Amino acid sequence: MTIDAQVADNLAAVTARIERAAREAGRDPAAIGLVAVSKVQPAERVAAALRAGHRLFGENRVQEAQSRWPPFLEQDPDIRLHLIGPLQTNKVKDALALFDVIETLDRPRLATALAREMDRTGRRPDCLIEVNTGEEPQKAGVLPADLDGLYKLAVEECGLPVRGLMAIPPFDDQPAPHFALLAKLAGRYGLPVLSMGMSADFETAIHQGATLVRVGTAIFGERRT
Ligand SMILES: *Cc1c(COP(=O)(O)O)cnc(C)c1O
Repeated sequence: MTIDAQVADNLAAVTARIERAAREAGRDPAAIGLVAVSKVQPAERVAAALRAGHRLFGENRVQEAQSRWPPFLEQDPDIRLHLIGPLQTNKVKDALALFDVIETLDRPRLATALAREMDRTGRRPDCLIEVNTGEEPQKAGVLPADLDGLYKLAVEECGLPVRGLMAIPPFDDQPAPHFALLAKLAGRYGLPVLSMGMSADFETAIHQGATLVRVGTAIFGERRT
């Protein structure tokens, strides 16, 4: 099978699974966005997804996204990019210039840096706060206990367009309780966007209310790093 056919098939299969999970959960499939995670993938697979009509992508590194996406964006202004990896404050300017959604706001210093750059440029992509639901020391994301403080700083003091929450559950845990916690936390603030679920667990996430699923390997195949 050609790469184009393979990626198109995978996209169709993932989309069908999203629709089935949504219907099982009594939800509208159109309310769930598929972020195709293209990090580290060869350009030909990304081009195949574009040719298959897909327009929503996730990258976890600013620099990699900068080297990949500008030519595609010039050809197709409908492409939307989400930053799903950690953001350093010295990359905020570049990130805001390129991404349509920043999914990984996770600390006060980043909130103030984002606000300063948004005020300077007028470019204000939506932001999601990343929550470390598993409270893993090595992992990015604000601890659940610190979410309230970060939310208030980001929204009330910085005026950031915070639209929702994002989480990556611990690798070894059952994901469902983490998704349920994230949904509960979002509900507390009336936040409509829930980014949760990857190749291995996006159906579970949809049952728990995900509005964005971030799927890499199930679309593009294994990452060769
Ligand atoms: C890599 C990555 C994904 C996609 O993971 P797959 O298991 O390949 O679907 C989703 N979210 C984040 C934050 C990632 O870094």
